[in-house]
Amino acid sequence: MTAHSKNLNIAELVRSDITHHFHPFTDHKSFHAEGGPRVITQADGIWIWDANGNKLLDGMAGLWCVNVGYGRKDLAEAAYRQMLDLPYYNTFFKTTTVPSTELAAKISSVMPERFKHIFFVNSGSEANDTIVRLVRHYWKLKGKAYRTHFIGRRRGYHGSTMAAASLGGMQGMHEQGGLPLPGFHHVLQPHWFDFGGDLSPDEFGLQAAAEVEKKILELGPDNVAAFIGEPIQGAGGVIIPPKTYWPEIQKICRKYGILIIADEVICGFGRTGKWWGFETMGFEPDIVPMAKGLSSGYLPIGAVAFSDSIIREFFDKGGEFYHGMTYAGHPVAAAVALKNIEILQSEKLVEHTAALGPYLAKALRSLEDHPLVGETRSVGLIGAIELASDKARRARFKDPGRVGTICRDHSFKAGLIMRACWDTMVLAPPLVISKKEIDEMTRLARQALDATLADVKHEMK
Ligand SMILES: *Cc1c(COP(=O)(O)O)cnc(C)c1O
Repeated sequence: MTAHSKNLNIAELVRSDITHHFHPFTDHKSFHAEGGPRVITQADGIWIWDANGNKLLDGMAGLWCVNVGYGRKDLAEAAYRQMLDLPYYNTFFKTTTVPSTELAAKISSVMPERFKHIFFVNSGSEANDTIVRLVRHYWKLKGKAYRTHFIGRRRGYHGSTMAAASLGGMQGMHEQGGLPLPGFHHVLQPHWFDFGGDLSPDEFGLQAAAEVEKKILELGPDNVAAFIGEPIQGAGGVIIPPKTYWPEIQKICRKYGILIIADEVICGFGRTGKWWGFETMGFEPDIVPMAKGLSSGYLPIGAVAFSDSIIREFFDKGGEFYHGMTYAGHPVAAAVALKNIEILQSEKLVEHTAALGPYLAKALRSLEDHPLVGETRSVGLIGAIELASDKARRARFKDPGRVGTICRDHSFKAGLIMRACWDTMVLAPPLVISKKEIDEMTRLARQALDATLADVKHEMK
């Protein structure tokens, strides 16, 4: 226990939270019924502590974001120093601050040559909302104002704002708030485990890509502005597409002159063992939204990298693009993000992730003898465990998400934060994790699987 948390009256804090704090992504009725929140007070490396003194292995790096791990004094000091120098100034109207300018150049330096320009926002959602407006305006500048439609995938996640949630393919989100907005379309996600049937993964990858072409032809190729995809779908259940998928998507989009947006909010900044998921999956996007790992979650910041051919239109045609957030390129967040990228570089954490990737894959494979586990998969330090009622047939339990939630709760009890996306258990630990800690994570995951099996054994084939 820490000095901080000792002085807290936790019961009082929980009561106050129930009374005053309206939480995101929460079932408010069961939140009350189950006694309110768990309170997290402290963290170091890959470990977090709750207010009751329980130590948990954070297998999710917060929300897929704490890439450099918790407890980095360098990042706290970068924020402190910048706050003393200049806590705020904006980047509108031909003005800049030192950290935002330095960060734009830094991001560009770890990207392919064509990404020289970076637009700042405060989150992944804002990054994707920005893209929708900017892309439509770009096509208008090009004299093709009719190119307005966006194609994404089912169970894609691109954020919670109106346009970002429309780009995403989460049915539950669409049913709330009248989404998707007009002009947003979704095709099959490249999830072999659920949809591959008797096809080999490579055959299925081509078939899933063909769904995109079918949608393009249905909408009329000239009406389509862009295709958006996470290189590896995160919240959809760590869907790692077969290796045939992305190259084929690229071929199709190029054929019809459609822009490719690689949502790197999770995959970016080393998660897959390269700086960018598109490098791992083998394709060349035109637009790259990023957030999460950009600051390792220490402060809110997001950005979009645009390829030169898009930016050139804005340079050549002129006219103001009426879009921007008060805190775009916030100097304190930018100073922290800059330091965060320096840490990724100086500690070679991207290389470390690449080196540990096969170790995590092997550790997850060791769970495949478990009766509940239908498949495991991973790339770099992002992975998934599929829960199945009949592993030979890749059959699911009834009521998708029910057994996953049971497993998630057991995982918490065992001391591991592992998230459930329906009945896919997912892991994305901080990139600083060691081999020994991967062993520990795997041991705790097996405990959670065993406890889950005890609960659902009667439902198994
Ligand atoms: C989290 C996430 C977003 C949204 O980012 P926020 O900062 O939560 O708005 C967008 N895209 C992907 C792939 C994400 O995982």
